Amino acid sequence: MNLRFWGTRGSIATPGPSTIEFGGNTSCVEVVTNSGARFIFDCGTGARPLGAHLMAHAQKPIVATIMLSHTHWDHIQGFPFFAPLFVPGNRFLVCGPPGAKTSLPEVLSGQMEYTYFPVELAQLGAKITYQDLAEGAHELQGVRVSAQLLNHPAIALGYRVEADGASLLYLCDHEPFWEPLWHSAAAVGRLESILHDGDRRHALFMQGADVVIHDAQYTPEEYAPKKNWGHSTYSYVTQIAAAAGVKRLILTHHDPTHDDAFLSGIEMRAQDLAASMGSPMEVSCAREGYEASFEHEALDKTSVTEIHSSDPSHSGSLLVLIVDDDEDLRFLARKALVHAGHTVLEAGSGEEGLSLIEIHKPDLLLLDLNMPGMNGFEVLRRLRTRETGRPLPVIVLTALGDEESARSSFQFGATDFLIKPFTPPQLDVRVRACFAHADRL
Ligand SMILES: [Zn+2]
Ligand SMILES: [Zn+2]
Repeated sequence: MNLRFWGTRGSIATPGPSTIEFGGNTSCVEVVTNSGARFIFDCGTGARPLGAHLMAHAQKPIVATIMLSHTHWDHIQGFPFFAPLFVPGNRFLVCGPPGAKTSLPEVLSGQMEYTYFPVELAQLGAKITYQDLAEGAHELQGVRVSAQLLNHPAIALGYRVEADGASLLYLCDHEPFWEPLWHSAAAVGRLESILHDGDRRHALFMQGADVVIHDAQYTPEEYAPKKNWGHSTYSYVTQIAAAAGVKRLILTHHDPTHDDAFLSGIEMRAQDLAASMGSPMEVSCAREGYEASFEHEALDKTSVTEIHSSDPSHSGSLLVLIVDDDEDLRFLARKALVHAGHTVLEAGSGEEGLSLIEIHKPDLLLLDLNMPGMNGFEVLRRLRTRETGRPLPVIVLTALGDEESARSSFQFGATDFLIKPFTPPQLDVRVRACFAHADRL
C-alpha cells in the first residue's frame, strides 16, 4: 500500500517559513492499497491540497473512504474545501465514531452552515454516505480495517488497516492512560511491564505493525500543564510502539508552536530513545508531502490482533451507578453523565452500592476507593467473587494517584482507573470505552 502525508500539524494550521520541512496543514493522510482502495484519514486542512491533487491526477470518478478519527476542528476543517466533494459522479463513504449526541452528518453540516461557509453540505454534488463505526473489525472497500477507541476528551477511534500483506495504523488523537508508562519495579520495554490496562490495550492494537502513525504533540517537559487535553508525548509513543514490536513509527499531529528546528530535535530524541531500548524500530517525524510504499511478502498472522466488535447502539445511553462518599464528587459526575445522555444512580457507601447493583443491574459502576466502612477494593473483590455472567465494567475514580492503588485496582478486577479531577467529556469517553471493552475482561 502507498502512504502520503497531506497534513501533519495538530490543533491549527501553521503555515510559514518556519514549518516548511514538516508542514503546516492539519491532519490528513492518504493510503491507497494495491487494489486501488483509497482511504483518507482525517480531513484537516491537508484535505484541500489532496483534493486538488486528486482532481488533477486521479482516475474519475473519484471514489474514497474518509476515515475520521473524531470531529475536532483540526480533523474536519478541510472537508468543505475538498474539491472532489463538489463533483457529481464522485462517491465517498465517510466513517467515524458515533457522536455522543450528534450524528456524523450533523457535525459536518454544522461547520457548513451559512454562518461559517457559503455552501451547505446537502448542496455538494458527489454522492456522500455515512457509516458510524464501533470498535472492532470492519470490511471497507474489500479491506479489513479495525477500529479501537483512543484516550481523548472526545470519542475518537484509532484505525488499523491490513492490506497487501502489510499493516498500518493511524492513531490520532490519543493521550497516555498513565505516565510514566511502566511499573516502577518492572523491566522497561515489555508489554507485561505496562502499568495501566488501557495503555496495554493500546500497545496490543499496534502489535507487530509495519507502520504506526501516532499523535506525539508534546515533549515530556511540555506535558504536565497539558494533561487531559488528549495528546501524547514522543517519549510515550516511542516506548509503547517499541514494546509492541512496531517496525516503523511516524510521529505526527505536531504542536503549532514547534518549528522545523524543534521537530528535528524531537526526531533525534525519539530515535535515541528507541535505540536506548534496544529497539530496531525506525522513528521519524511526519513531513507533509512524504510518500512511501509498504509491502510485506507474507503477513505474520500471529501479529494481527483480533478485536471484538461492539454494538454502537448499546453505547448510546447507559445506566451508571456512582459509589462515592463525597457528595460533591457525585454531583459533578452525575452532571457530566446526565449531560452526556446517561442515567445515573448514586450510593454513598460500598454496602449501599453493592445492594443497588443487585436491585438495578446497572451497565457500569463508577467506584471511589477511599470510603469509610467498605472501601472500593473490597467492593470490587465482593463484586467479582459473586459475578457469574458478563462482568460489570468498573471505573475506579479516585484521588489516589499512586502506582500501588492503580495496580491493586486492576488486580481486584477494575476495568479502568481514572484519577480525580476529571473533565466531563473525559469521563463520558472513558465510560463509553469501558462499557465497550468490558466483555473482554
Ligand atoms: Zn487533533
Ligand atoms: Zn482532538
